[in-house]
Amino acid sequence: MKDEAVELLQALIRVDTVNPPGNETGAAELLRDYLEPLGIECALYGRVPERANLVARIPGRGDGPSLMLLSHTDTVLADPTEWSVDPWSGELRDGCVWGRGALDMKGQVAASAVAIASLAREGFRPSGDLIFAATADEEMGEGVTYGLEWLCSEHPDALRCDYAVNEGAGDRIELGGKVLYLCSSAEKRSSPVVLRVHGRSGHGSMPGIADNALVKAAPLIERLGEFAPEPVLTPETEAFLAAVLDRVPPAEQALEAARSVDELAAELVEPLLGMTVAPTMVAASAKRNVIPGRCDVTVDCRLLPGQTEDEADRLLRAWLGEGEYDLEWRDGQGGTRSELATPLWSAIESFVDALEPGARLAPIGVSGFTDSHWLREAFGTVAYGFFPLRAMSPEVAVRLIHSADERIAVDDLGLGVDFLRHVALTVGSA
Ligand SMILES: [Zn+2]
Repeated sequence: MKDEAVELLQALIRVDTVNPPGNETGAAELLRDYLEPLGIECALYGRVPERANLVARIPGRGDGPSLMLLSHTDTVLADPTEWSVDPWSGELRDGCVWGRGALDMKGQVAASAVAIASLAREGFRPSGDLIFAATADEEMGEGVTYGLEWLCSEHPDALRCDYAVNEGAGDRIELGGKVLYLCSSAEKRSSPVVLRVHGRSGHGSMPGIADNALVKAAPLIERLGEFAPEPVLTPETEAFLAAVLDRVPPAEQALEAARSVDELAAELVEPLLGMTVAPTMVAASAKRNVIPGRCDVTVDCRLLPGQTEDEADRLLRAWLGEGEYDLEWRDGQGGTRSELATPLWSAIESFVDALEPGARLAPIGVSGFTDSHWLREAFGTVAYGFFPLRAMSPEVAVRLIHSADERIAVDDLGLGVDFLRHVALTVGSA
């Protein structure tokens, strides 16, 4: 099965699905041609013909829980001059498959496809539907979208599921002598906000009679740069701390307690203790000799799962104090979570137990956005991000994602197939 996954991954890497423009239909057809002869139901759905999503299914024999293996087929771009191999070669070298998307996330696409294919060959009939979705357009996902967001609104019946396994985590880390496998169960909410500072415009030669909004923005930007909210503990942060420390410290001590174990634990916990703000863009006068009467500062703001813009607005105003400014919240996205006491969690936990006795499964909230959000929002699906990586260290993997010389260890690809089969068999026999 490992060899089968290697071959399929190589073929997927050779289909260029750099987004934009995506052109994911080639990948969807390749997967359909692999799965359909095994009697697996396959359907292609596309908002436009060249950007198809594949949904494949082994129908359940009863009304047991349905499980989706979720993945995306598009990738970010690659600059061949920075690579030691052709990024679309899928070359097998030093025990790894090399190419754009190997980690993010054609490796998991291939492992999921091989998992469902092998189960179909064995005649496995799950109690509820086993679904494999290889979707388009995850990497851009703004404006008009072609992937899971569109599918959930246009073809909900093809996508509805109780449980889903997606990308997002699966790293094996060691903290203070404990081995942890991370499973992402929540994500922060991306909530851009514009800080609009008001002044009075005037001629650049007479600053005395104007009220320069850019100058007034400066101390506010500085204050934003120092933003430090009261720490709070979300359920996933509590469970993570419990796995690392065997206890849950009060929120104010959480960061120090994590740091006392390992700097990496502190790095993982810090963004999950509160919303973060990062001023990233500024716009004031369009002319050198016109003093701006208005200055817009765009702030990348990430809220905790479940936190609302209203709450964030109150926190920011309290932090900045009185002033001649407004806060305008733009389209926020994400910020969902799945609970932890579920059969899917137990299934992943039992895999980790068997893989490495004594290792623990620890939940983590991710600071970025993943497609899990769309399933949670549309169907209340319990969705986790987990794809175990053991041969490649997380420090190496994180540097290769979206970067040059992206590759996945063949052994991790095989491990991924084993993991996805285990979950499908466990959930599907409920
Ligand atoms: Zn991805």
